[in-house]
Amino acid sequence: ETLEPLLHVRGLQAWYGESHALHGVDFDVFPGETVTLVGRNGVGKTTTLRAIMGILRKRTGTIRFRGADVTRVPLHRIAHHGIGFVPEERGIFASLSVEENLLLPPAVAPGGMTVDEIYDLFPNLQERRRSAGTQLSGGEQQMLAIARVLRSGVSLLLLDEPTEGLAPVIVQRIGEVLRILKGRGMTVLLVEQNVRFAAKVADRFYLMDHGRVLDGFPVAELAERNRQMTETLGV
Ligand code: ATP
Repeated sequence: ETLEPLLHVRGLQAWYGESHALHGVDFDVFPGETVTLVGRNGVGKTTTLRAIMGILRKRTGTIRFRGADVTRVPLHRIAHHGIGFVPEERGIFASLSVEENLLLPPAVAPGGMTVDEIYDLFPNLQERRRSAGTQLSGGEQQMLAIARVLRSGVSLLLLDEPTEGLAPVIVQRIGEVLRILKGRGMTVLLVEQNVRFAAKVADRFYLMDHGRVLDGFPVAELAERNRQMTETLGV
């Protein structure tokens, strides 16, 4: 493997105040891949995304993006490097319309999608373009949250539980969008409890437990990893 990882994480530790949440997380994401972090509640999946983004400022270890050390890049600068985050709580502006939400994010990196390109990808956002954030369904909010990040021109998308609480038909639509983005070369790091969904969109899995990555494997090995997954996920 001569390909350089797009995202390279080694020995990542992070704290919430005095509470030590990550104990040395190691993984790589290669260009164009969709990689999923799985593990039971509280093992540090969300915290890993927050530490990469600089939302958690107390962190040590190495985070390299496109070969550059971004371990100390603060939250307000990380998008300029090309990393975008869609948090579980989505972070859209509830009082603004869909279109205002889409017009707001500045294009911080080259390659940001235009509003028309967003509407091609998410036709239902175009139909709802005058609706306020508060009037959107959970699925529409999730799509708007993803769309906002795509506007900014990032090349790595961090998605935290994008399917949580959504109807199966919407989950399927989000899966289609992720496959379209993958076809365009987007790289995705996904946190997902829904392993069946993840299996449809991911190239590889990393299994987390107790603030560490235990193991990584390609999606093709999912069936033979069933026992390990069951034990670690407790499902
Ligand atoms: P979940 O699916 O529940 O979000 P997770 O694997 O994403 O699980 P994290 O949310 O990353 O887990 O939590 C990792 C650890 O950090 C847990 O022990 C959790 O209790 C703790 N933690 C998370 N958020 C905070 C916070 N804001 N303040 C203090 N501790 C936190």
